[in-house]
Amino acid sequence: MQRRGFIETAIAAALATDSRAQSVIGAEPQVAIERSNSGSPHRGKVLALITPHLDDGPIFAGGTLAKLLSEGYTGFFIRTSNDEKDSYRLTLGETVLANQRDTAAFVKTAGMKKWFDLSYRNHRMDNVSRTDLRGRLIFLFRLLKVDTVMSYDPWGHYEENPDHYVTAQAVEAACWMSGGNLDLPEHFEAGLKPHSVSEKYYFARGPQLVNRVVDIGPVLPQKVALIRSCRTMITHMVKDVNDTLAERKLRLPAFTGNEETAAEEFIKAAFVARDHKTGGKYGLDYAEEFHYIGPDQSLDDYISHNAVKL
Ligand SMILES: [Zn+2]
Repeated sequence: MQRRGFIETAIAAALATDSRAQSVIGAEPQVAIERSNSGSPHRGKVLALITPHLDDGPIFAGGTLAKLLSEGYTGFFIRTSNDEKDSYRLTLGETVLANQRDTAAFVKTAGMKKWFDLSYRNHRMDNVSRTDLRGRLIFLFRLLKVDTVMSYDPWGHYEENPDHYVTAQAVEAACWMSGGNLDLPEHFEAGLKPHSVSEKYYFARGPQLVNRVVDIGPVLPQKVALIRSCRTMITHMVKDVNDTLAERKLRLPAFTGNEETAAEEFIKAAFVARDHKTGGKYGLDYAEEFHYIGPDQSLDDYISHNAVKL
């Protein structure tokens, strides 16, 4: 997430379904509530979380990630940046290593199968070749046979971090181009096949067109554990709040002292409270909001009326 206080994050989340925000976009979407499924309805399907920074997924979509994985998805994490800028008083090199270790902890805590680091320099992704990034994602989507992605909304508004919007746009384009038989055809010589992504859960920290709300009440403890696995980044956020307060001659006792309990209290104040507020808009205890894009069903009706057996 980086460099924004939790108050701003909470305001941005509240704006996400604000009617004014939707009128800017010009549509009133139907909002579907997604609740937990019993059993394993997603067994055999592959999900990829693709974000530039380790903490993006846990903070904005950690509950939905935990829910979908518990319902049978095989999960992969693709981290596009090297997270070299997000720590408190570590050097750039130490920061890369600390966040790499935290990434291993996050993947293990989530129960995902593997992670891939694309390692573009943090905060510099607007200088990355979009076609290079897109091509690497197309390769991974084909290799892993990704059915569903979770990432930043490429149409999210007021996003200030170039790593976020560059990654989001590359993901969106790679999702359909990976199904093209004339896109990067050298992949097929190596044994891969065209494979497009059919479902997308896009989250944003500013206003977006919300059409899917996921009930994360049953998986809230898992979400908190995922956020806690981003130790270096959470410590950075807590210490930044403390420094800002110190300039105003203030101190939050719960955010000082023991690092573990301070992190726990910060997560509650910043993220659990935000998710509770979001849930309240939909009659749920805790929720996450998305712009969801599902499989193309435009021909389903025609096919059901006209298709014959081969
Ligand atoms: Zn971020």
